[in-house]
Amino acid sequence: MKHTITLIPGDGIGPEVTSATVRIIEAAGVEIEWETHYAGAQALAKFGDTLPKELLDSIKRNRVALKGPITTPVGKGFTSVNVGLRKALDLYANLRPVKALPNVPCRYPEVDLVVVRENTEDLYSGLEHVVVPGVVESLKIITEKASLRIARFAFEYARREGRRKVTAVHKANIMKLSDGLFLDCFHRVAAEYPEIEADDKIVDNACMQLVMRPEQFDVLLLENLYGDIISDLAAGLIGGLGLVPGANIGEQGAVFEAVHGSAPDIAGRGIANPTALLQSGILMLRYIDEREAADRIQNALFEVLREGKVRTRDIGGTASTAEFADAIIAKL
Ligand code: NAD
Repeated sequence: MKHTITLIPGDGIGPEVTSATVRIIEAAGVEIEWETHYAGAQALAKFGDTLPKELLDSIKRNRVALKGPITTPVGKGFTSVNVGLRKALDLYANLRPVKALPNVPCRYPEVDLVVVRENTEDLYSGLEHVVVPGVVESLKIITEKASLRIARFAFEYARREGRRKVTAVHKANIMKLSDGLFLDCFHRVAAEYPEIEADDKIVDNACMQLVMRPEQFDVLLLENLYGDIISDLAAGLIGGLGLVPGANIGEQGAVFEAVHGSAPDIAGRGIANPTALLQSGILMLRYIDEREAADRIQNALFEVLREGKVRTRDIGGTASTAEFADAIIAKL
């Protein structure tokens, strides 16, 4: 079956790592027609908009996108295209599988967990105001609707991927109403999945446990703010942001992207590591039910890393992005 997928090359190292990933996916024999669209500064220059309507329409039509990183100017300029995309398409679930890679040095080689983060509400609703000079209120919004749908997403993911446990992380001992509602929704949904273990941990304890005994965790379910912080902590356990894949998923579609940014310091030199985006591509292939190709690419990636002969500079080698991609293709 031929798939049509929206491709956003992004900027900085984005075009380099997306072209390597596309080449590997195509070499694995998956038939894809890519609809390429630009966003961010490139789109602003061409179309006068950082998030052109054609791009959003393409994702809505195809329901799947693979996206390279996009630079967000600091302090001035346009607002984040990444946040804009999540809002425009209501991509309510952020998914980040965190698993150590073979032969890539890290402190916790046994880690294999998945962070599911609610992407639309909590303290990120942007509702802030000055009450009186010197006093500011930021509103934390938690709704039953969003809490139920993200809990259901986590349990459905666990069921589909054969995961054994979902742990909700919260501070319901202090925020009895907001985090209490989130936790209550979690337990209501958990009751519908008796084959999957459900437990919960208070966020401060969860942080300590993550650095003491991370192997006890399987799927973690968190509100937006705790999820933002803990997903980076979890990436650090296995060697950093440069290796970890991510996905933003909603009813209208899913956008798969690496966790890292556009790396302006190495852009244009052909030395970026495409592993994180390739791993996002593997997640994407599973999402579109190309599981056999996904497994084959993952095995090829792991074999190249295990051999250690061809590796990019960030993980101690000298290979270019293209040479690393070629080595993976040779193992398919
Ligand atoms: P960054 O992730 O781009 O870079 C941090 C460091 O990691 C740099 O030294 C970089 O060279 C290195 N690095 C990152 N990815 C790498 C790779 N694949 N291979 C080898 N080395 C890699 O973070 P930053 O410098 O804070 O952000 C740069 C820009 O990216 C900013 O404009 C930021 O807003 C944007 N950004 C975009 C996304 C996204 O599109 N989802 C995510 C994060 C940051």
